[in-house]
Amino acid sequence: MINIALVGVGKIAQDQHIPAIRNSENWTLAATVSRNHTVSGVEQFTDFHDFLTMRDDVRVVSLCMPPQVRFEYARAAIFAKRHVMLEKPPGATLAECQILYDLAQRFGVSIFATWHSRFAPMVPKAKAWLANKTVQSIRIEWKEDVHRWHPGQDWIWEAGGMGVFDPGINALSILTEIIPDAMHLRAANLDIPTNKTSPIAAQLKFHHPHTNDVRADFDWRQTGDQIWTITVHTDAGTCHLFDGGAGLSINDVHQTGGDVPLGGEYPRLYRYFNDLIQTGQSELDLRPLTHVADAFMLANRTMVDPV
Ligand code: NAP
Repeated sequence: MINIALVGVGKIAQDQHIPAIRNSENWTLAATVSRNHTVSGVEQFTDFHDFLTMRDDVRVVSLCMPPQVRFEYARAAIFAKRHVMLEKPPGATLAECQILYDLAQRFGVSIFATWHSRFAPMVPKAKAWLANKTVQSIRIEWKEDVHRWHPGQDWIWEAGGMGVFDPGINALSILTEIIPDAMHLRAANLDIPTNKTSPIAAQLKFHHPHTNDVRADFDWRQTGDQIWTITVHTDAGTCHLFDGGAGLSINDVHQTGGDVPLGGEYPRLYRYFNDLIQTGQSELDLRPLTHVADAFMLANRTMVDPV
């Protein structure tokens, strides 16, 4: 069993990290660092540096706070020779993520930038099916109700919170996993509420080596059914991931082995992180965050109704 500390005990820590750790055969939740929340039976620190000094037996930290503040925590953890798991997106800038990766190499610890959607049950099957196909077009639709999924989360609207890319980057993490070819953004539009700095919706067009017909539509104004789909048309038919990778149909044939959205992702993620630590490896794939950064560089802005 490996002792781990959760840092930032908010929605995702409570919904996914704590159950995944508690039900795991590899991990023990040995401490939390939280200004506002306690976890029953677990020692709580309110100051991260106190934790690092006083709990030398906890060699791994999982950082679950918003991206804007994660760098300082990650850097302090690496300097204290702790292995580090980063919630997605791994940071607020590309450069800070690269710095963390380099520091982890220097200090001989593992760093893992998680993309939890890649651990959705049907993503590996979609990837395997697509491996020998020629892509003709790709459509991503990631449409959800921000008021339902992010109540009271001011940070998502602030600089570095990324707005609708906070969920949209999950789609980009799956895309870059299942399509091995290098793609780049060629055009984009961001819909920005007049009272916010971050987008409530985004429309992206990518270049793929075989087609320019690759589009993503992210929208936080969705009411009714929530939509998290990726549809890839190929020379051998159509692969349709739905429910964020929890479901899959190939040429309209439903594939077995799916789950509810987010089902099983975090247990698999923690198993994978354990493997990385045991084998002395790190993983920090910046492609999803690069596409988001490119969107902020390249996009036209359309001002829309205030939120
Ligand atoms: P959240 O509930 O709004 O916040 C998480 C926690 O971060 C807070 O409870 C707080 O922890 C800490 N925190 C907030 N501001 C801080 C600051 N300025 N300095 C230090 N700590 C701060 O957010 P969340 O939904 O859990 O999301 C956290 C991360 O997980 C984000 O990067 C998000 O993209 C990712 N994520 C979220 C979901 C989801 O469904 N919500 C799913 C997958 C990934 P304490 O109160 O304990 O100090």
